[in-house]
Amino acid sequence: MLYGRLENLYKKNQILEQRYPLNEYYPLLRSFIAKEVDLGAEYLSPYRFALSYSLPVGEAIRFFIGLADASNILTQYYKYQCDECDTINIIKDEDSLLNFECKECGFQDALTRKEYLSEVKILFRLDDDILEETEKSLKDNPLSREGRNASEVLGRGIDVEIPIEKMEEVIYDDKHIPISTTAEERLKKIQRYRAIVEGAI
Ligand SMILES: [Zn+2]
Repeated sequence: MLYGRLENLYKKNQILEQRYPLNEYYPLLRSFIAKEVDLGAEYLSPYRFALSYSLPVGEAIRFFIGLADASNILTQYYKYQCDECDTINIIKDEDSLLNFECKECGFQDALTRKEYLSEVKILFRLDDDILEETEKSLKDNPLSREGRNASEVLGRGIDVEIPIEKMEEVIYDDKHIPISTTAEERLKKIQRYRAIVEGAI
C-alpha cells in the first residue's frame, strides 16, 4: 500500500525523485514507519528519521514536507496551544491557523500578537490505512526486540513537533527549488501573514 501511494506521489513530483529517490528512500521509510508504529507513534518525527539514517535534519524535514503532498501518506498539521484555556488545537490549513478560534473555549487569536506564529508547531500524521496495515503486519511479524532500547533512547527528548520557522527554512533547496508547489503555496500564505503582523505591508 505504502509503495503504491509513494509511486503515485513521485509521478506527480519529479523533485522528490531527484532528491529522495524512491528505490533508496522507500526501504528507509518503510522500516522507519514499522519501528515508530511499534513504539505507538501516530505522528512521525523527521528528527527521528534524520537520526535513524544519519541525514541532516533539514533534509529529513523537507522530505516529510514533500510526502505530506499526499494526504494518503502523511498529513501536515499545525499545532497551537490556546493562550486562554491551554487546550491543544490541531489545525489543518493556513486559513484556520490565521483566523484561530479555540475549539474548546472559542478564544480568537489571530493578527493581534506578533508572537503568535512562533508558538505554532508543525506535525506530520501518518495516514490511518497505513497505520492500520502496519499494526496488522507487526502483529503477524513482530519486530526483533534487539536494538529496540537503542531506538527508544534515541527518541527521548526528541519531539515530533517542528517550529514553523524551521519549515519555512527548508522548503527551498540551495538552488531555490521548492520541494513541492503545495508547500510553496502554504509558505506564501504564512509569509504574507508574517509580513502583515510585522507591519511590512
Ligand atoms: Zn481555548
